[in-house]
Amino acid sequence: MSMHPFLTGSPHGLLIGGKRVPARDGQTLSSHNPATGEHLADFARGGVADIDDAVAAARSAFETGPWPAFTPSDRQALLMRLADLVERDAEQFALLDTIDMGSPIRHTRGSVAMLVDLLRYYAGMARGIEGVTANPSAADMFACTVKEPVGVCGAIIPWNGPLWASILKLGPVLATGCTLVLKPAEDASLAPLLLGQLALEAGVPPGVFNIVTGLGAEAGAALAAHPGVDKLAFTGSDATGRAIMAAAAGTLKRVSLELGGKSPNIVFADADLDKAAQMAVVAAFANSGQVCSAGTRLFVERGVAEDFARAVASHASALKLGNGIDPEVDLGPLVSARQLARVSDYMAEARAEGAGAVCGGARLEDDAFANGFFFPPTVLSGATDTMRAVREEIFGPILAVLPFDDEDEVVTRANATPFGLGAGLWTGNVGRAHRMAKRLRAGSVWVNCYNAIDPAVPSGGVKASGQGREYGKAHLEEHLETKSLWIATD
Ligand code: ADP
Repeated sequence: MSMHPFLTGSPHGLLIGGKRVPARDGQTLSSHNPATGEHLADFARGGVADIDDAVAAARSAFETGPWPAFTPSDRQALLMRLADLVERDAEQFALLDTIDMGSPIRHTRGSVAMLVDLLRYYAGMARGIEGVTANPSAADMFACTVKEPVGVCGAIIPWNGPLWASILKLGPVLATGCTLVLKPAEDASLAPLLLGQLALEAGVPPGVFNIVTGLGAEAGAALAAHPGVDKLAFTGSDATGRAIMAAAAGTLKRVSLELGGKSPNIVFADADLDKAAQMAVVAAFANSGQVCSAGTRLFVERGVAEDFARAVASHASALKLGNGIDPEVDLGPLVSARQLARVSDYMAEARAEGAGAVCGGARLEDDAFANGFFFPPTVLSGATDTMRAVREEIFGPILAVLPFDDEDEVVTRANATPFGLGAGLWTGNVGRAHRMAKRLRAGSVWVNCYNAIDPAVPSGGVKASGQGREYGKAHLEEHLETKSLWIATD
């Protein structure tokens, strides 16, 4: 796969003020294919000075030059051009995400198509920003609200969907007239850098979209703490989310966080159990479990729990693991040796605490798997709510089947987690669906489906899963300030 056209430009520079530049101190990082261990490309290891440069470029582009004069119609046209270019290069993007972070090409192709649609959604939203005419009770006073872009945005993104996260951060920035400094994850920086090139080709003015690749503790920490950043969006682990919020506190910038989860997926005996079993596998194992809303706590009504666990294990075992470049492959490797070690540790601890594996349970090391970080889909039996593997986010393909007896009990247990990102619910009883949906503490509740997502529907977490919403009008609002305008008419 060293044939990918984007790999030849290595080492890839930062994108600052419309120019590709090396890190000030000349340092670089390397990217490897997690399926094969093959070296792919080098890219700049940006640090504090580079973040300073990028924030200055973003500030300057926000205040001067062509960008502030872009009308909603201009911003819409720009987003439409960018969507067309991503569509033109869809296969390049899909390949790049597959070789850089391991997600199968079947999955990444589907993602790119959705992301083109997402960009077109934001293009439309650029025309829909509006305030209200307010109604003050004072005589001779007129008041209205005006929406203005919040300013320079920082975004720190994870590796589990590099293009996805980049477009999700860039779309609302361009729609609202903000500017952006993006810090991709060190494990998967290539697709964001290619997006940077396309943004220039689409006519995004210099400095509107800046990219500083580098390490979390260096470039990431500098961006979070930077006084020149008005708003920071972070997607990643809750531990890093806490560090980022603390770093941002010094400058009182606006912060939105999309953090982890330990989402319940609840199956009642009255559900369509075949469909529920198939979808439980997708919910837990898509992207090898490296999904923040993965349904990793599978609560199943006791009478059907054993059969259901067997059905889930049989669907899971039928998934094809391998190098994601093969279009037949369902599940690729984990992103890194560190992630593989983390997943293996959780598995070992679950076993020590008395759980068993109905399927999976150990790293794959033979032949085709020898040089990659492969861990098979694993269904735990004998798991209890108190085990660490059932309480903490693993970010790997481990699913616990947890039998329950009634609604009250399962609601209490489902909510007994610091997290609240998503919750799945399978039942044929519409009254129960409404009762349960109301009581589950999560940003999204999916009834007889899981992980449904659409540009027009907000997504985000409660409790330790974060704050703020992405997608939908709510996402645009995160990028807007409300100015109240008063006019004395006497
Ligand atoms: P992981 O541990 O799997 O890498 P993280 O949530 O730590 O997940 O990483 C998500 C993103 O946060 C990455 O871009 C990473 O570089 C960045 N990051 C990690 N630590 C920090 C930090 N202290 N400050 C700012 N960004 C960070």
